[in-house]
Amino acid sequence: MACISGWHCFRFLQNILRIIDFRMNFPEMNKGKFNEQRRILIDSLRKRGNLDNDVLDVMANLPREIFINPAFSHRAYEDNALPISANQTISQPYTVAYMTSQLNIRNGDKILEIGTGSGYQACILYMLGARVFTVERIPELHESSKLIFKKFGFNINSRLADGTLGWRDFALYNGIIITAAAPKVPVQLISQLETGGKMVVPVGAKEYQVMHIITKLEDEKYDDEKTDSFKFVPLIGKDGWKKDEN
Ligand code: SAM
Repeated sequence: MACISGWHCFRFLQNILRIIDFRMNFPEMNKGKFNEQRRILIDSLRKRGNLDNDVLDVMANLPREIFINPAFSHRAYEDNALPISANQTISQPYTVAYMTSQLNIRNGDKILEIGTGSGYQACILYMLGARVFTVERIPELHESSKLIFKKFGFNINSRLADGTLGWRDFALYNGIIITAAAPKVPVQLISQLETGGKMVVPVGAKEYQVMHIITKLEDEKYDDEKTDSFKFVPLIGKDGWKKDEN
């Protein structure tokens, strides 16, 4: 864990306090039978060298098995996407860590997530100190994720809606994370970003996508950095794929 400047030390201490608070409120974490598997997975992600340590510390303290169908809990710490309800998936841990790392979250940042799914990614954003707004289009997932947020006592704002339109009531956001595959960069959402804010979004064909890191510049301009390839379920909505295209 690097503590290379005053700001890093402050952020490090804040994250430690949040994690201690979470573990005290959720004692099952301290005796969980998956603790060793979780540690091995996080160590292997840390060795990749391109992921934010604070993000990995949070992932080391969040039980992924709780977010998936119990039939798959023995596979919770494989570095793979896994099925959740309604034919959707919880993203691969590397992908979650990669996308979250790109947002460089500071305490109190307002972050919009499109694609709540299981709620795992939203909980990580929350544990990093973000104010989280998350949108899901499938009622079953919206409801089940709300139950998990409540169980953890996390004050996460969630909404059942087409997330391709964002969530205007609470804009502007410091960051937007889209956890489903967009057919093109959802340019409309950039208007809901602060200047200097980042949007992380996988864009491309149904088979695979390229991760775009969009940074909003002055005067509605934006920088678009294309990084690695990933595979997501489709973003379905007004500014995404049409339902019958799947
Ligand atoms: N972030 C999730 C998690 O931590 O489990 C994983 C998300 S899963 C890969 C993608 C999710 O995006 C699915 O739950 C899907 O229903 C949702 N989705 C697809 N299109 C959407 C849209 N237009 N608005 C909101 N959610 C959408």
